[in-house]
Amino acid sequence: MFTRSRRRLAYWFTLSMGSILILFAFTVYHRQVKDRMREFDAQVYLQTQKIASLTRYQKQEKSWQIDTENVSLPNLETIPTESRITCIRWYDSQKRLLQFIGNCYPQRSLVIPGWQTLEYKCNFSGTTRHKNLRTLTLPLKYNQSLVGYLQVAVSLDPIQDSLGRSRLFLSLGVPITLGFTGIVGWILGGFAMQPVKRSYEQLQRFTADASHELRAPVAAILSNAQVGLLAPVDDSQQPRQRLENIVTQSKSMSALIANLLFLARHEGKLNPKDIAKTDIVELLKSLANQYRNLAREKNLDFKLDVTTTSLEVCGDRDLLKQAIRNLLDNAVKYTPTGGMVGLELSVKPRRILITVRDTGIGIPSSDLPYIFDRFYRVDKARTRQTGGFGLGLAIAQQIIQAHDGKITVESEEKKGTTFQICLPLRS
Ligand code: ADP
Repeated sequence: MFTRSRRRLAYWFTLSMGSILILFAFTVYHRQVKDRMREFDAQVYLQTQKIASLTRYQKQEKSWQIDTENVSLPNLETIPTESRITCIRWYDSQKRLLQFIGNCYPQRSLVIPGWQTLEYKCNFSGTTRHKNLRTLTLPLKYNQSLVGYLQVAVSLDPIQDSLGRSRLFLSLGVPITLGFTGIVGWILGGFAMQPVKRSYEQLQRFTADASHELRAPVAAILSNAQVGLLAPVDDSQQPRQRLENIVTQSKSMSALIANLLFLARHEGKLNPKDIAKTDIVELLKSLANQYRNLAREKNLDFKLDVTTTSLEVCGDRDLLKQAIRNLLDNAVKYTPTGGMVGLELSVKPRRILITVRDTGIGIPSSDLPYIFDRFYRVDKARTRQTGGFGLGLAIAQQIIQAHDGKITVESEEKKGTTFQICLPLRS
């Protein structure tokens, strides 16, 4: 599935980049042709005018005599080779050829004032070649009367050769670049697929873990129900005991489902309706009252260290309470009798730090990187007794991240654990 998506990404990337590239190459080539032709025409026009100014006319009886003594092709050799003149022809006003200089092939040419492009075939060492000629015909005038015509022919071959080289470069360069684009697309597709692959694997693992966790209580409920049904009719004790087991298992299942629903509903974002200013000091004090009693029941020392009288933070009060409660639950759960659980608040310039500390069993350093993963439990056998699913910290982290905060942990085995929530202070 991922390889197919990656291939598709690479394909679309190459296609879009290729289209842009081809369009770009075509535009550049088109512009180059236009610019070269404009430059070429300007050069030829200048030369033709120069030849016209060098040409002398003499009226003899009714016709004009043209004197081309000053005109020669070598005179014009300062001009670029691309627009070098190959042939100059002079015609009278009746368009009859009077004189010519240079290699005038084809011999016959149309005399129409302005620009013309001619294509002709010539035999070169036994092979027929197509040649292109550009001609410019200018009327020659003396005192407003038409004397004749001057026609200049320039071979288009040099310019076409150079444009042919550009065409060859583009026609080889474009497919090679497209090949590179395809490779780059494939590599980029791989990078783009990585987060998708990771979240897909996470989702798969989550679904498998959730099904696994739900299977155990369902199996227990079923076996208790079956054993209860098999009990003799006069035995009221056993079915009752089985029903109690079913209730316990159902409660555990319901708690798991509630946690799963919670994770799904609050994925990454807060409900704007539930965001309000919350007095965090008051919230911590009410939690402290609750957990002080719980700690006392377990013979634990509970310490509250909040010096500020009141401090408002922006957020979802119930969710923040839930996150801190999950940390306090763990602290009480994983601290043996005689230990200490602490809740602290410290206020920094633009953030607050809520710390939940305990002197409990601690978390091995090898487990610390995974502690916030869904369904992760340090010691499954140990937590089974305490009834945890490994979702409490994942929920706490999700809530804090949704508040643009951060949750961190420091722990040492057999010495204790410290969780710290950092929340931004917003006005
Ligand atoms: P659970 O519901 O199983 O407690 P959590 O996500 O809250 O799940 O915690 C994940 C695991 O992290 C627990 O199984 C436990 O092993 C470990 N843990 C969490 N908090 C503490 C703590 N304060 N002291 C020691 N271990 C802890």
